[in-house]
Amino acid sequence: MRTLGNFINGAQAPPAAGRYLDVLEPATGQVTARVPAGDATDVAQAVDAATAAFPAWSESPAAFRSGLLLRIADLIDQRLDELAEAESLDTGKPVSLARTLDIPRASANFRFFATAVLHTASDAHLTDHTALNYTVRRPRGVAGLISPWNLPLYLLSWKIAPALATGNTAVAKPSELTPLTASLLAEICVTAGLPSGVLNIVHGAGGSAGAALVAHPGVTTISFTGGTATGAAIAASAAPAFKKLTLEMGGKNPTVLFADADLDAAMPGILRSAFTNQGQICLCGSRIIVEESIFESFLERFVPAARALVVGDPMDAKTDVGAVISASHRDKIESYVALALADGGTIHCGGERPSGLPSRCREGFFVAPTVITGLPMNCRVNQEEIFGPVVTVTPFRDEAQAVTLANNSPYGLAASLWTGNVSRAHRVAERIACGTVWVNTWLLRDLRVPFGGMRQSGLGREGGDEAIRFFTEVKNVCVKL
Ligand code: NAD
Repeated sequence: MRTLGNFINGAQAPPAAGRYLDVLEPATGQVTARVPAGDATDVAQAVDAATAAFPAWSESPAAFRSGLLLRIADLIDQRLDELAEAESLDTGKPVSLARTLDIPRASANFRFFATAVLHTASDAHLTDHTALNYTVRRPRGVAGLISPWNLPLYLLSWKIAPALATGNTAVAKPSELTPLTASLLAEICVTAGLPSGVLNIVHGAGGSAGAALVAHPGVTTISFTGGTATGAAIAASAAPAFKKLTLEMGGKNPTVLFADADLDAAMPGILRSAFTNQGQICLCGSRIIVEESIFESFLERFVPAARALVVGDPMDAKTDVGAVISASHRDKIESYVALALADGGTIHCGGERPSGLPSRCREGFFVAPTVITGLPMNCRVNQEEIFGPVVTVTPFRDEAQAVTLANNSPYGLAASLWTGNVSRAHRVAERIACGTVWVNTWLLRDLRVPFGGMRQSGLGREGGDEAIRFFTEVKNVCVKL
């Protein structure tokens, strides 16, 4: 069994209080590692290291920082198999998904921001003939970066890369449920030659290590991805200190299918958006809204396709759906299936623990892909984030009702529309209240575009220029001519 350490000032460090948390493999329920139960003392040491490293790092040429981050990206690529296996072990996701999505995206994040900061420009404003204004951006100091368990290295690197590329130093707090790849990233940073203290990683529970990081007066900037309730607690803690904050939170995303869509193309896309990563991606489409004229024919194709997904050992290349993150999360997902039945819903497939798992996985946390119909949009199953392989399918009459149903949610993260009518695509995209709308696709990402949610899904945006602006402080200089 591995015992992980914090990563402080360029070296592995045991937790100050000597306490550890068990890390379970969701596919087997077995303990695979111990991770530091970091607390305020560990956070303070990490912030001290990041503060000490800030002057030299922030003053270093962008090309120097860029070169180091590109080296980290290359090393991630070189260790692809090892990182993918660690991510699958920690999360229960199919190793094939980690190999094709999570880990390549982590190196892409470093490469994207390493090169983006070589191509930034600043603004100048000439005020008639009397003054010249020019605008400069400087790194803000020590950033606190807090990430969840569903896409561990993918989301952690999505924060680390822009923070460091723009000249900040950082203290990262990965999810205590999935610390392995963050720990491997620390090794990679040492190999790459990243100066000590530029990136520090403190492991531990959210209520101790995470809360201490948000509260630390030396941390000026907080970037958080996780649940909405946690985001609210972080906002309450950060606000009195006027910390700059971005919150990427939960979703309950609509998938809107019009009768004029190319069903052959839409079907695999909708299936992927429903069940990828066991439905544990904030962007997954869990409310499928289908034009009533094709409602039955959609179900006739979608339900067998969901049933045909292979639920199994995440380490098996043939597995489509692995384990969910924990026993308590599986219980939460199952409680929503029970609620759906109590509310008069019909379960077309799933709704139970899958049978036929290999013996290694008998104690793992598995939920079969589940399709439910017959629920009103305002019931809890349709309003609350389940974050599992559970979708509802609801018919709509016309375009106006489709928009009303799609927007009937406290969240506003992402939507996908499936239609062959170009005008309708633009019209409906315009009226859906969320941060990202995909048309005839899902999870097609360009790292330059603004990424984030409205309402209870988020505050602020990540990606491209948005991230570079977020991690820098702007100043205008006005020179009288
Ligand atoms: P979570 O909110 O429980 O935890 C996220 C992180 O916050 C973890 O590192 C945790 O230790 C830490 N944390 C918990 N309490 C804290 C506190 N009081 N102060 C500081 N840090 C604290 O979320 P989770 O269960 O790990 O992840 C699932 C959630 O994340 C879902 O709601 C999902 O929709 C959301 N998510 C959102 C996005 C997005 O981009 N919008 C992406 C992925 C996941």
